[in-house]
Amino acid sequence: MVPVALIVQKFGGTSVADAERMREVADHVARTVRRGNQVVLIVSAMGNETDELLRLAGEVSIVQPGREMDMLITAGERKAMALVCLALHNIGIDSESFTGSQAGFLTDANHRNAKILDVRPDRVRASLEAGRVPVVGGSQGVSTENDVTFMGRGGSDTTAVAIAHALGADSCELYTDVTGVFTTDPRLVPTARRMPTVSFDELLEMTATGCPKPSMRSVEYARTHGVRLHVRSAFTWQEGTWVDEEETDMEQAIVSAVTHDTSEAKMTIAGVPDQPGIAARVFRALADLDVNVDMIVQNVSDRGVTDISFTVPHADLARTVELAERLAVEIGAAGVSSDDTIARVSVIGAGMRSNPGVAATMFETLSACGVNIRMISTSAIRVSCVVDGDQVEDAVRALHDAFGLAGA
Ligand code: ADP
Ligand code: ASP
Ligand code: MG
Repeated sequence: MVPVALIVQKFGGTSVADAERMREVADHVARTVRRGNQVVLIVSAMGNETDELLRLAGEVSIVQPGREMDMLITAGERKAMALVCLALHNIGIDSESFTGSQAGFLTDANHRNAKILDVRPDRVRASLEAGRVPVVGGSQGVSTENDVTFMGRGGSDTTAVAIAHALGADSCELYTDVTGVFTTDPRLVPTARRMPTVSFDELLEMTATGCPKPSMRSVEYARTHGVRLHVRSAFTWQEGTWVDEEETDMEQAIVSAVTHDTSEAKMTIAGVPDQPGIAARVFRALADLDVNVDMIVQNVSDRGVTDISFTVPHADLARTVELAERLAVEIGAAGVSSDDTIARVSVIGAGMRSNPGVAATMFETLSACGVNIRMISTSAIRVSCVVDGDQVEDAVRALHDAFGLAGA
């Protein structure tokens, strides 16, 4: 007898957006179960429900305590999980829903972006053993203070990966509204191609530079714990993208993907005295504010002063400017400026390690379409440029063509 596989299936917002979609999800789960597999289902909130709940919160209050916000936001996943369970019962599949807390997700108390401390899925395991399909609300847990927590936007992917690891599942399938991970955002570039496989290294660089799928934290978790990920479509059900360890004996594409990110703003502290300890002071202060700083560039010192530029998420810009202005006075810098109209475009590929010229081709391509480069940063397998926000879509299209990524 063929041993059963344990499969975690996670469905994103669009995939459970209405009753019809939920019935289709239930049918798909039923087919997987009837083939002899065990399934644990993870669901996101329906459609744009999370945004809608956040909007409502904004309408009733400008004061938003984390505890109440998390109670509110996680209600979206709770509604979806109960409805999907009903859809399963309706076609004769015994199932039961679990909140993050019931499923054993213990997190820290950092509301709105809680981190997993431990996963103890005893009830989920018991449910499987009883022959049921457990349905778990994504992106939620219970804190060390016994409060409901939300694990951040896109956190349901992390829920899926973490429970797949805790249960020793054979694979973790992330169902979404596209057929896999693409060479660039398929909404922007219709010739983008689905990647049949992608390495963890490449996917991490992609998610860190603007590719929303899967969430970056879930990719990190999967890599650390060796969880097999399969990103695929909840609409066509066809084979998607497998995320694997890099195959070193395979010929690697020099550039595999182009990403873009419009969620960050650029900050510059000008005329900073060029002395040891200044950068440490600036970035320690930002870290203490919990601001996620990226792309730091310091100019060559000229007459004992230098400029330091870096990017921060739009959401953190106001408090970063406030802090930088205070620091500028303390350290004797000339001034602070910020620009929230920038965007970042990146090219990613493991083959870049052994092939020079990628940066040159990137800069030539941007220059040929009149795009001015304002900051540059690189890793072993990525080159990123900060450009004007209104030129970023043209830049993505031109780079996707220039590196031969377009499909037929
Ligand atoms: P879900 O809600 O299903 O978890 P998201 O809506 O967060 O998924 O992310 C899926 C979307 O990500 C797709 O609709 C697609 O337009 C967008 N996207 C952007 N870049 C890429 C890419 N390189 N590969 C796949 N999808 C991408
Ligand atoms: N519904 C939440 C969000 O939109 C969590 C998730 O879908 O992963 O961010
Ligand atoms: Mg989504």
